[in-house]
Amino acid sequence: MAGEPQPDCLFCKIVSGEIPATIVRETETTVAFRDINPQAPTHVLVIPRLHHADAASLAAAEPAVAADVLREAGNVAADEKITETGYRIVLNTGAGAGQTVFHAHAHVLGGRGMQWPPG
Ligand code: AMP
Ligand code: ZN
Repeated sequence: MAGEPQPDCLFCKIVSGEIPATIVRETETTVAFRDINPQAPTHVLVIPRLHHADAASLAAAEPAVAADVLREAGNVAADEKITETGYRIVLNTGAGAGQTVFHAHAHVLGGRGMQWPPG
């Protein structure tokens, strides 16, 4: 059920500690950790502790937690000192858009120039 830990979900296992991750920030509602396959000098994932399949589903079910994820993305950027140079928050939604883990997550990417349009 949405919001409940899912036994086969990689990010639920990171939340529970079953799978290790390089955690950089934690709050009551979120966990932020370094992406295992970084695409920029800073590449951190911010996830809600609650399981929801994607960002829009999270926002519909738990709007305050969706706001927590975005606030934490900004806090990660500040910690990483990329606020001034700019950073990108990416919410891949659906396999066709490159989503591979179906537990909502925000990518925080920075520390290099970003192209537009994104690939
Ligand atoms: P997405 O493709 O938007 O679903 O993003 C999933 C991200 O999770 C990818 O950037 C992966 O590199 C990352 N990832 C997969 N497994 C792990 C892991 N064990 N620890 C940290 N990041 C991971
Ligand atoms: Zn999950």
